[in-house]
Amino acid sequence: MTKWIFVTGGVASSLGKGVSGASVGKLLQLNGFTAAMAKFDPYFNVDPGTMNPYQHGEVYVASDGAETDLDLGYYERFLGMKTTKDNTNTSGDIYKTVIEKEIKGHYNGNTVQVIPHITDEIKKRIDKFDNKVDVALIEIGGTVGDIEGLPFLEAIRQFTLEKGKGNVINIHLTLVPYIGAAMELKTKPTQHSVAKLREAGIMPDMIICRCEKPLDDDVKKKIALFCNVRKDAVMEATDCPSIYLIPESFYNQGVDKQVMKMLNLTPKKKFDTSWFDIMKKELTKEINVAVIGKYTGMKDAYKSIAESLYLAGLHNGIKVNDVYFEAEDENLLEKIKGFDGILIPGGYGYRGVEGKISAINYARENKIPFFGICLGMQCSVIEAARNMAGIKDATSGEFDNNAKEQVIAMLDEQKSVTSIGGTQRVGEYSAKIKKGTLAYKLYGTEDIVERHRHRYEFNPEYAERLENAGLIISAKHDKLPEIVEIEDHPFFIGVQFHPEFASNVDKPHPVFAGFVKACAEKHN
Ligand code: GLN
Repeated sequence: MTKWIFVTGGVASSLGKGVSGASVGKLLQLNGFTAAMAKFDPYFNVDPGTMNPYQHGEVYVASDGAETDLDLGYYERFLGMKTTKDNTNTSGDIYKTVIEKEIKGHYNGNTVQVIPHITDEIKKRIDKFDNKVDVALIEIGGTVGDIEGLPFLEAIRQFTLEKGKGNVINIHLTLVPYIGAAMELKTKPTQHSVAKLREAGIMPDMIICRCEKPLDDDVKKKIALFCNVRKDAVMEATDCPSIYLIPESFYNQGVDKQVMKMLNLTPKKKFDTSWFDIMKKELTKEINVAVIGKYTGMKDAYKSIAESLYLAGLHNGIKVNDVYFEAEDENLLEKIKGFDGILIPGGYGYRGVEGKISAINYARENKIPFFGICLGMQCSVIEAARNMAGIKDATSGEFDNNAKEQVIAMLDEQKSVTSIGGTQRVGEYSAKIKKGTLAYKLYGTEDIVERHRHRYEFNPEYAERLENAGLIISAKHDKLPEIVEIEDHPFFIGVQFHPEFASNVDKPHPVFAGFVKACAEKHN
């Protein structure tokens, strides 16, 4: 039977419930248990895929094509799990299900209410993990006290009662601020936050305190007393240089031992601390990578790219300095001179595209390692068409619907889909890699499966002309080109998919690993 851990948060948002929960999950995995994590978000957007990256950070694409919140990226990177639609739920989506059922007459004319109808739907979705993993960690978005979060707290209260003691625990994450004038860590916000949680009928089993300074014994005693938890279940999460150090910090405090005790679990294997060693690898080289995009004012907009570069560097003993540039910057080429590599991520719309194309031209001609992702790949195809194959007006149908030379185009099957958020090729697709290419060298296999999220494709009608001009199409899905390369270049690769969603701590993505290694060689 599955055991359940609910992760709630209080005092402030952005304390790291996702990372804390995933770190607990990682420790349980290292004790031999299978673990999965899911998020329940109180906001009402039904399709996070259409949310503005400036407000919300990147849209993370799950393996089945669900367009989700970036927290799912943490679950995958920490736990090495593959997320799907089941790992992300919003109020909007939950209410929509209930309302649609009501319209269809499913409730036989009864009054439809938050309790029990919405709460039942929430519980049903939580229970999807039953018997699938040893431990399911459920993160509740927002902070306790938020009006829209109440149905979720009520649902987990009921769920806890139904599953019974010893099968479900609540871990509550709070902030313990340090007040300089008083030279003290303050526990009152935590007390208030737990009081709110108890008002909703939930008693925390463990409190994890985000704090700038370690909690001394007296502070822990006070939190234990006022918040009704055992002192040895008051844990601290001090600011760390890297989020991947958090599992070790929790391990040193005995978080996993406490959690297993509360859930009546005995370790399935001897704890293997070698996972912690990944973080201790000496970084002997340093590289500078220019990332050229258009949401650079919001670093979370490229979260998975940044994490993938970091993890690829970590495994190869390389410190990666990723610097973000606006593609529209007039002095872009001046600014990126001297960088060891250029990465162009995915994106939408024409703004900044000409800047990206000129940066790709610069990388190609000056043999600077280049890695293009999705729109970045499409721009590299346009660059090759214009400057290698002499198709001067080459462009994408996305930028000019009536353009004659659409080397990137919307194919007929996609044209028929019209609703926003529903027009794309999203989720996992397989591709076949050609032997003898850079892609084959990186992956070491002919068959790959990667995640997509785009409307436009490399137009197969131009494939032959571009290949004759020196562009290598090194992988295809059916007739659709998936990876492109350039001959006589130390590292030039464009991928139509999003490899940044498939990196994890145990295994960085092979194209990211190859890219950082090529940058390090260039740096020497
Ligand atoms: N805008 C491009 C398309 O829709 C690329 C999308 C992306 O980079 N994710 O095809």
